[in-house]
Parts: sequence; C-alpha cells; structure tokens
Amino acid sequence: MSEITVAGAGIGGIVAAMKLAQAGHSVTVYEKNRFEDCGYEQKDSFDASAMDYAGIEIPEGYIAPGNEITFFPIDDNVAPLKMPSPEGYKNITVERKALFAYLTGLAAEAGVKFVYETEILAPVILGSRVCGIKTADKTIYSDLVIDACGMNSPLRKGLPAWMSVDKDAERYDYLYAYRAIFDRKEGDFDTGERYKIYVHSDTGFTWIITEDDCVDVLIVDFNEIPFPKIADELHRVSERNPHMGLNLIRNGKFMQIPVRQPLAVFVADGYAAVGDSAFMTYAAKGSGIAYSIKAGTILARAAAEDKDGLYEAETLWKYEKDFFYEVGFDACRIALIKNLLPYFTADEINEIFSKKLVTSEETEKLLTGGFRKTELPGLIKDKIKLLGDVPEFRSQLLMLIGWLGKFALLDSFFPAKYTREDAAKWSERYNRFFESTGNPARREEQTEAE
Ligand SMILES: Cc1cc2nc3c(=O)[nH]c(=O)nc-3n(C[C@H](O)[C@H](O)[C@H](O)COP(=O)(O)OP(=O)(O)OC[C@H]3O[C@@H](n4cnc5c(N)ncnc54)[C@H](O)[C@@H]3O)c2cc1C
Repeated sequence: MSEITVAGAGIGGIVAAMKLAQAGHSVTVYEKNRFEDCGYEQKDSFDASAMDYAGIEIPEGYIAPGNEITFFPIDDNVAPLKMPSPEGYKNITVERKALFAYLTGLAAEAGVKFVYETEILAPVILGSRVCGIKTADKTIYSDLVIDACGMNSPLRKGLPAWMSVDKDAERYDYLYAYRAIFDRKEGDFDTGERYKIYVHSDTGFTWIITEDDCVDVLIVDFNEIPFPKIADELHRVSERNPHMGLNLIRNGKFMQIPVRQPLAVFVADGYAAVGDSAFMTYAAKGSGIAYSIKAGTILARAAAEDKDGLYEAETLWKYEKDFFYEVGFDACRIALIKNLLPYFTADEINEIFSKKLVTSEETEKLLTGGFRKTELPGLIKDKIKLLGDVPEFRSQLLMLIGWLGKFALLDSFFPAKYTREDAAKWSERYNRFFESTGNPARREEQTEAE
C-alpha cells in the first residue's frame, strides 16, 4: 500500500484518488478552500462519454440535450450561424458544485481522506524526486504526489527546470473570463436561440445561455478585461436580449481558462500532474472536465501497474504516453486551430461566415471536439478548393496546413520510453514548435510583409 497525496481537489485528481483508494492505497486530498467554497457557482457542460470511460455512474438528471448554438459574427448584417449538436454526442449539463459533491462523495466512499482549508505552498524535493508537499505549518511526505491544483499550480511552478515540466503559460495560452448569472425578465426570447455566442472584438467572445429562471453570461477575451469594458458588453448583450436582466444573481467572478496544448512533460519521479495543472483542456473553448476525468482514470491505471510502488518517471510515462495517444495529440490539433485565431480580425471572421467558408457542422464539431486526425486532410482539401475564389484567406489556411504537417512529424518524436534526456529533447522540440505557431508577434510580421 502506498501513501498518495493529491494536491488540490481538481476533478482529475479526485477521480485518480478514488481509483487509487479502490486499489487499496492510502490517499489524501489537500484542498485550500472549504468544501462549501469548492466548485464554481455555475452550470457546466461536458462529454458524457468521459464518465463511461471512467466507469462512473451518471446520476439521473445529468444528461441534457446537446446545446444548439447560434453564433453571431460581429456585424449584425451577417446572418448568424446555427450549429446543431453533433449526432450521437451525449451531453452532461450539471451544476459544478453538484458535480464536485458527487465525485468527492464517491471518492470518500472509496476511502479517500479530504483535508480542506490547507493551502499547499511548494513541493518537497529530495535528490531527483518529488517526495511530498509543504503547507504553511507542515511537510507531508508521500510515495506519489498528484498535482491537481489547476492552471497556476504552485507545485508545478516549484519543480526544478531539469524535470522539463513547464512552469508558466504564455499569452494566448489562456483566456481572461468573467462569468455571471443574471435575472430573467419578461421579454422577447426565441426558444430556438437558448445558447448564443457573440464575437465581441478581435480577441474575444460572449456566451449567453438562457435558463428558465436566469441568464448565464460568460465573457472571454485573450486580453485582460477591465470592469468598465465588461459593463459595456453586459449592456450591449442585454439590449440585444430583452429578456436578460442586469441584476446579478450569483457568481460575478473573474477567472482564467487555459486554452492550450497539454504540457510537453507532466510526470517526474514521484510526481504526476492532471487536469488544468497539465493544461489538459479542450483548446477551442477551455472545457477540461471530460479530459480531466479521462486523465485521472489513465493515471490511476498506470500507477496500479507500478507493482514496486516507486512511481518513477519511467513508470509514470505510461500515463503520459496513453494520455497523448488517447486524447493529447487530438487536443494539440485543436490547439493549432485555436492558434490561428490571432491571425484573424473580427471582421475577417465575419467574412468567413458571410461567405460560408465554414459550415455550421464544422464549427460545432470544433466546439465539441468532434474532429479526428483522419478527417482533417479531406477537410483541408475541400477548403483549399473553396478558397480558390477567396484568395485573401489562403495564407492563413496554408499556414494551418504547414502547422498540421509539421505536427504530424513532431508526434513521431514522442519518446516511447522515458529517459531524462529524451523527455528534455521532446519538451524542447514540442515547445519550440508551438511557440512558432502561437507567437502573436508573427501576426505583426505578417501584416508588415503585406
Ligand atoms: C468560467 C469557466 C467555465 C468553464 N466551463 C467549463 C465547461 O462548461 N465544461 C468544461 O468541461 N470545462 C469548463 N471549464 C474548465 C474546467 O473548469 C477545468 O478545465 C476542469 O475543471 C479541470 O480543471 P482542474 O479541476 O484540474 O483544476 P481547477 O478547477 O482549477 O481545480 C483546482 C483545485 O485545486 C485547488 N488549489 C489550487 N491551488 C491550491 C493550493 N495551492 N493548495 C491547495 N489547493 C489548491 C483549487 O482550490 C481547486 O479546488 C470552465 C472553466 C472556467 C474558469
């Protein structure tokens, strides 16, 4: 039996904790917040197949119809685009606090101990190994530390550089977000447009979801959004949606949502990151619940195979490898498509929709993770044909083709086995490649060249 510490009650960490406790290990989750304050005050949607993958029963009431999204380009004169939910997609929509209570309840039943109101400050490192965590008044040693502290994890930031686990996110790796639930007024409301996305600038979007008794608003932007700008946007969308009141019912918080490819390396001796702490989000919109549930399951499976209980990077590499082959490489391709966004202005996105260069099914598939590697070559071929008449977007499409082609070569460099040198080489190659695609300076270079 091993002593396992889960740092932070992130979703993937709770799932891994539950499975490792079921396998007979002693598992403790340390969380900085009180139980009542964990989970956001909002409803979230995610792919139900992740729960099936993890063998977690889906409670009654969790399955909801997939959202038919209406997408509004910045220009009111361009017709909005309706995006049906992909066929066969099984959707869960649930209050985050209810999901948190459900998963922690299952984990507790399996024997996991939860210690709330305990902030983790740093990892404990002895020689080449992560052997525990430091809190304000304690050092807690364990055989394996699972980092589920989210995007700004102090554990990840405290690891030595030679572990090749990157510490910081770059610009365009995350969105600044404001989420707020407002009252619902009497007023015209088209029930066919319950879920809307507006392009509000060159760098941001606003989601409006109409519920029976409230209106849920999410404003996201790659630039930090000062409150006056938020207030302007709230007024703008409430004018366009007369049923939306401006009395805040709940949430009203600023947050960050990671939208990037997974970390190049997220394991080390005695350490594995899961969920947002390893940037396992769906890069087009930052949905990471399904990936976290899958990753927690894959991690527990790899750890169970480590019969010596040493949890060295060599054995935890199986977790990283399985995650990349089952989820991560697809997530990388989505990240590449997301990295194209800074190369378009809101007016250009407008034009793409007005000229019907992207169909509603394609946009919906992008938003729900429906594209597979095998579909992309055919799709790109079709788009090249279509762009014959619209040469102004050719450069962006060619850039994407170049990125996808280079990425196809890059994924063949993924090390089959872990050695410190190979992991470092992989990390350097992977990061150099993504830096060359996501670097906003390239946009300026491109404009200058034109
Ligand atoms: C506004 C918003 C809307 C979203 N909507 C969706 C959605 O609809 N669908 C979807 O799939 N995903 C959505 N996401 C993304 C989703 O929340 C995450 O991708 C997913 O939960 C995985 O993150 P996590 O659980 O690993 O990390 P987090 O949710 O960040 O959890 C980390 C946990 O660690 C704790 N912690 C952090 N630091 C410390 C510390 N030093 N010591 C102790 N504990 C610590 C935190 O308190 C927290 O409980 C949304 C995110 C945001 C911000």
